[in-house]
Amino acid sequence: MQPPDGPDNQYTMRDPLTQYPRPPFPEQTQGAPGLDQNMRPEPDCGEATYVGFGRLKGRRALITGGDSGIGRAVAIAFAREGASVVINHLPAEQQDADDTLNVMRASGAWSIGIAGDISQEGFCDDLVASAADALGGLDLVVNVAGKQVAKESIADISTEQFDATFRTNVYAMFWICKAALPLLPKGASIINTASIQAYQQSPHLLDYASTKAAIVAFTRALSREVAPKGIRVNAVAPGPIWTVLQPSGGQPAERIPTFGDHTPLGRPGQPAECAPVYVLLASQESSYVTGEVYGVTGGNPTP
Ligand code: NAD
Ligand code: MG
Repeated sequence: MQPPDGPDNQYTMRDPLTQYPRPPFPEQTQGAPGLDQNMRPEPDCGEATYVGFGRLKGRRALITGGDSGIGRAVAIAFAREGASVVINHLPAEQQDADDTLNVMRASGAWSIGIAGDISQEGFCDDLVASAADALGGLDLVVNVAGKQVAKESIADISTEQFDATFRTNVYAMFWICKAALPLLPKGASIINTASIQAYQQSPHLLDYASTKAAIVAFTRALSREVAPKGIRVNAVAPGPIWTVLQPSGGQPAERIPTFGDHTPLGRPGQPAECAPVYVLLASQESSYVTGEVYGVTGGNPTP
């Protein structure tokens, strides 16, 4: 998607109120995990706008959820900043993954996709080992994949859903970090993906909000353990971002047309607006930042 103001880049000064589409949005639903390419309007993941300056030159990155949404925007940004990138995605998302890989490769980056389900410990171990093998090492671990299934009441949340949400959002992060840490050199950076839901919980996202609070605590605790090893651990906490997570069950269908209208900027963010924060946290520019959670919320405050 081209921003309505024209084919500029992330440094072009503009009005954040009108930079991207505002509600109301068309009603739409997809089955989970869904595809970016079936969303209307399509999310902006920086394909036409992100300009890199070698801020991650030579870095070797593993990004989960890299096919679509925020993960796709991060993958494209890292590629354009000079990193080599492995993205993970679910097999059902091959189309989105191929699109993302094509964009990264067109930018001159080395990149491959590894499909598989991170809610399984064995796969997480294999993913880290295969990524490090393919990249010749690992410098950046970016946990973006997540599961969000809205339910009106705690009475509607099955043990299976609760378990799957925790396995995808919390256990997978634990397994991937645990497997990656012995491989990470000094200067490496781990970036997790929390949410405004860690701080301002929606009642229809009980299990999801709980996982996001756990991600904040995990990020802070792990950052303290590994600081003496010269490894930094931070998180990004997005507010409402226009991604397929939302119309594929992440929100009740009737909330999609007004998605993001409750923020001070009055619209949802786009994945392209999250990616620069991941780049900052990955690069040496943030050498004195660890155990931190960066909000990208359209103005709703994080603590
Ligand atoms: P998205 O649907 O584009 O990305 C989520 C990705 O998670 C999927 O592409 C998929 O590849 C991956 N995934 C889910 N289950 C998986 C599994 N079992 N195995 C492997 N991969 C799996 O949506 P997004 O909004 O870009 O989500 C990215 C992250 O951002 C998530 O952690 C989400 O919780 C977080 N987040 C999103 C919003 C928002 O409003 N969109 C707000 C705050 C936080
Ligand atoms: Mg996807």
